[in-house]
Amino acid sequence: MAFSLTELTAIRSRREMRAKVAFATLGIVAATDGADALINLYTQPDRIWPSFVQTTLLASAMSLLFLSLLARANLRLFELKDRLETLAVTDIQTGLLNRRGFFALLDQAQASGADMTLGIVDIDHFKRINDTYGHLVGDFVIAEVGRSLSEALKAPHFVGRVGGEEFAIALNGVTPIEALHISDRLRGRVSRVGGPQLPTNLSVTASIGLARIGEGEVMASYARADRALYEAKHDGRNVSVSADLGKRPKVVLLPLQSQS
Ligand code: GH3
Ligand code: MG
Ligand code: MG
Repeated sequence: MAFSLTELTAIRSRREMRAKVAFATLGIVAATDGADALINLYTQPDRIWPSFVQTTLLASAMSLLFLSLLARANLRLFELKDRLETLAVTDIQTGLLNRRGFFALLDQAQASGADMTLGIVDIDHFKRINDTYGHLVGDFVIAEVGRSLSEALKAPHFVGRVGGEEFAIALNGVTPIEALHISDRLRGRVSRVGGPQLPTNLSVTASIGLARIGEGEVMASYARADRALYEAKHDGRNVSVSADLGKRPKVVLLPLQSQS
């Protein structure tokens, strides 16, 4: 009941606004005419038709005026709500999903039974980039890395920015080895990040920790991916480590490939 009432009064587009105002006006005019006719039938039966015409005109004019105003306000509220909902899950600096948006989408994918693998992509020695070239360049690097990752990861995979120079990737339906290969390609892309705003001698690399979520807990897998990332950093950076392929020495470290 609550759902249908909300749906009844919701206005999400101009088309919906016109249709609902027209239907509501018709309903109000019919109800007003009905009540008017009933009253006139008993009080002044000889005036029923002139009164009917007046009532119809008055009721439609008033309803159209007030309902249109209400519907316009309702439409603006729904547009605002959509914008706020989008902003709440968007990282302003990169346009990617933010931490909240990323994990909400991941929970959704998990709930639908998808076999997800989680990856944490952390830019190497980012502090050095900031210290050497300044924070503005650092900001550009973050934006470019984010753009590069999102260009490479199309649905059903997705990416978000979960921290300062940390991104999270969600890979759908891949084996641990496939996940490593994808992360290897992503690192290749990160290493080619550049652009007119960035110094030509700037070298950007990233390390990646991966963990399959499967039917497990998302946050437990995040912790496993984080530990794998720590190993990648410990191994000299610019490498990918999967938590699903065993601990050292079985950990698979793939060399950077030249193709994207
Ligand atoms: P590691 O290879 O171990 O990851 O080293 P790191 O230097 O990348 O890591 P660390 O965590 O020491 O430094 C991350 C730095 O990123 C610290 C912080 O000032 C900077 N940072 C975080 N968010 C932003 C941002 O939005 N813009 C810029 N320019 N810097 C940021
Ligand atoms: Mg870092
Ligand atoms: Mg970090």
